[in-house]
Amino acid sequence: MKNLLKTWHGAKPQQPAPPGDDAAHRLAVFEDIERGHSGWFWATDASGCLTYISPAACERFGLTPEMLIGQPFTSLFETDPENPGERSDRPLQFLLGTHTRIADVTVRLVPDRCAPGTRRAWWALSGQPKIDVAKPGTDGAFHGYRGSARDITVEYERRIEDSRLAEFDSLTGLANRHRITRRFDSVLAAFRGTLRPATLMMLDLDRFKHVNDTLGHPAGDELLRQVAQRLTRVVGSAGEIGRLGGDEFQILLADQEDRGKLGELADRIIGLISQPYSIDDNHVVIGVSIGMAIAPFDGTEREDIVRAADLALYAAKHGGRGQFRFYSSDLKDEKEERRLLEEALREAIASVDGSDDSWDDPQLGMVYQPVVRTDDHAVVGFEALMRWEHPQRGAIPPSVFIPVAEDTGMILQLGAWALRQAVRDAALWPHPLRVAVNVSAVQFAHPDFPGIVSDVLDASGLDPDRLELELTESVFMGDGEVTDGAFKALKSLGVRLALDDFGTGYSSLSYLRAAPFDKLKVDRSFVESCTLSDQNSAKIIAAIIGLADALGMETTVEGVEAFDQRDVVCAKGARFIQGYLYSPPLEQAVLLQRMAAGELRIPPDGPQRHRPERRSVYRRIGVIHEDHRYEALLRNLSATGAGIEGLVGVPVGTSLVLDLGAGQLAVVTVSRSEDATIGVEFETPLVSDGAGGLVTRYRASPYALATAARMASSSTPQFLEVEVRKRA
Ligand code: C2E
Ligand code: MG
Ligand code: MG
Repeated sequence: MKNLLKTWHGAKPQQPAPPGDDAAHRLAVFEDIERGHSGWFWATDASGCLTYISPAACERFGLTPEMLIGQPFTSLFETDPENPGERSDRPLQFLLGTHTRIADVTVRLVPDRCAPGTRRAWWALSGQPKIDVAKPGTDGAFHGYRGSARDITVEYERRIEDSRLAEFDSLTGLANRHRITRRFDSVLAAFRGTLRPATLMMLDLDRFKHVNDTLGHPAGDELLRQVAQRLTRVVGSAGEIGRLGGDEFQILLADQEDRGKLGELADRIIGLISQPYSIDDNHVVIGVSIGMAIAPFDGTEREDIVRAADLALYAAKHGGRGQFRFYSSDLKDEKEERRLLEEALREAIASVDGSDDSWDDPQLGMVYQPVVRTDDHAVVGFEALMRWEHPQRGAIPPSVFIPVAEDTGMILQLGAWALRQAVRDAALWPHPLRVAVNVSAVQFAHPDFPGIVSDVLDASGLDPDRLELELTESVFMGDGEVTDGAFKALKSLGVRLALDDFGTGYSSLSYLRAAPFDKLKVDRSFVESCTLSDQNSAKIIAAIIGLADALGMETTVEGVEAFDQRDVVCAKGARFIQGYLYSPPLEQAVLLQRMAAGELRIPPDGPQRHRPERRSVYRRIGVIHEDHRYEALLRNLSATGAGIEGLVGVPVGTSLVLDLGAGQLAVVTVSRSEDATIGVEFETPLVSDGAGGLVTRYRASPYALATAARMASSSTPQFLEVEVRKRA
């Protein structure tokens, strides 16, 4: 090689050297290798400039030797900065600067050295430093490098692709479980030292299984792809999204702890994922539940945060779906709670359906809420609502047990019982009073359903026209043919159909065109805010009523509680109202009594104005003033203020810190103070916890709390602390 370098810059020897001439023979072998295009050789001087490069390399680069010789070697090549599989990510310059041997460093020509149209191949570069044998006590002189390069483009690109696959989910292109777990670990490790927060969101699609089962796996896959695209759209660069498998997703949000912002993001995700999908000409609707946990508040190890987010997700799913929840320590028992609830519900059903006569007291019953015509207060019918009175726990609301019944399939039995009971009761009411019965989407989708309705009507003798079935938009997800068939079968029985909770779901007009509804029920949530001027609710109510009129459907407005609401909805065209202003749901015995007395009109009776509820609570909290901590009782709570009992002599204007537990510290100012009761206003309003509760946006980190706990409160208290008891 030494000889070769000396003779370089000129003609290549044309004739093969005769055997026996050792140097010439070696040169010939060397040249054959070079011409074989499997690799090339290179050499640099002590300053790192190129002194030799194989002609074959120049050919590959589309350059002439003159363009390369004398150039700093490291200026020609780059190592791959994003190469996930590479052993050394140090730049070439650093490696060569150490004068040590290099082996298989992956490089390619820098872009501005490339001749137009050449493909930048990947090379594995190896080289030896050329160093004189040192005299004792000295370093040998360095003369540069001699080395070779091998084309590894094919295997290298395959390796990159493999590692991409190992990190990303091939269906959606999102990070896979492996990658997101690794990312989370590294974020937590990096943040631990600096006390920065990180949030983990766990997502689980609602009703995904149904789509997969009814439309098939390819449709399920397509749905997951579309969900991934929507998630990417909402989350953007704010976080990293991963798919763990099935319909489970995870989002990692570094440096985010504001529960207000997190709740808003979760709401946006829920909103976008719940919009309809078009898959192979099918209209598909799903939902999503989200659980969130935040490091370091809910834990500092990945396992703890994952478990916490999982519990929050579980609570969100079973709290009625399409919800988000933050982790809180009360959630720990929710899984067990749910199991007990299932067991209890099974017993409750057994107590009414005649399959087990050991039950004397039925735990389940139906109550009936009047629907009133607004012009003359005449009752036109009743909605049948289920009630569950548990012998130990008391009343359990349908919003809690209906989803449990749906998830476990018990709804089929439960729903059939409710229908039978309601129709049997309604048969005793005077003609033409109607009964409306709620039907869950699971019941509706069951092929036996029209047959059950028909049997129940036959057994009771109720005119089919007096039975109204209340369906929600969720009946439209899944298989369109099954849905169409059920609609036809029910219509042919002569029963009426109502679309319940209209406006809260997907509210697609195509449903109204496709399905033979007789009535739309305007959801209570619009009525709740219809008297607030900055909301569009009143306009939406007017639009829904107008739409129903145009399509020849009736409307009932639900949830009217006060006269001001009634005035608004009547002005918007409401003709039928169901709400506490007229009557709560009533027992059959009460109804029959009133009917016998001829009372078939109910005038409105209730508050003039609707007041947004201020939640009553009863909770021990800490109140911190200067460096003294008091115990007090939280009596009511809204996003902006609270009522507290137990402190006497706190002047109005005093600044306090409320310790609401679990690191939730809120700065407040006293706005009212009378005897042992004070009213306070929050400096920063509280935000929703996703389940109707309120939480602080931020929490004090466990580190700060540990420090605070060590500071003993030794000063003398300035206010009197008094014991208060729960009022009767
Ligand atoms: P829904 O079908 O929309 O029923 C109306 C709900 O609003 C009832 O709650 C009713 O008591 C309540 N409500 C009526 N007027 C007012 C008012 O002025 N103010 C307020 N705040 N609420 C009012 P309920 O009985 O707790 O039922 C909740 C939901 O549970 C029902 O919503 C329905 O979706 C479901 N459900 C109830 N009974 C059954 C049943 O037998 N089968 C099925 N599948 N679902 C049922
Ligand atoms: Mg209903
Ligand atoms: Mg409703």
